[in-house]
Amino acid sequence: MEQQEKKQLEPRQCAYADCEVVFTPKRHWQRFCCDEHKKRHHQEANDRLRAITKRYVQAYQLFAKEATDEAAIELAQARRALWDEVS
Ligand SMILES: [Zn+2]
Repeated sequence: MEQQEKKQLEPRQCAYADCEVVFTPKRHWQRFCCDEHKKRHHQEANDRLRAITKRYVQAYQLFAKEATDEAAIELAQARRALWDEVS
């Protein structure tokens, strides 16, 4: 049986925010120009999620302790930030 010819993929821009390198991916799911940018992107996403989660937990605890308008607003904003990050 004849093997299917590999299609050359279109060049694309690196998905790392600060990188403008345009590269030709070897696999269709490849989003980064290099392993370094892949690692950094995931590290930064983790750090961001950790910070947002921490803010939400703190807002939740504050609201549980004292249900002021300010605490309610902060909780709503923290929940929205978390939602935006994961959706
Ligand atoms: Zn890159």
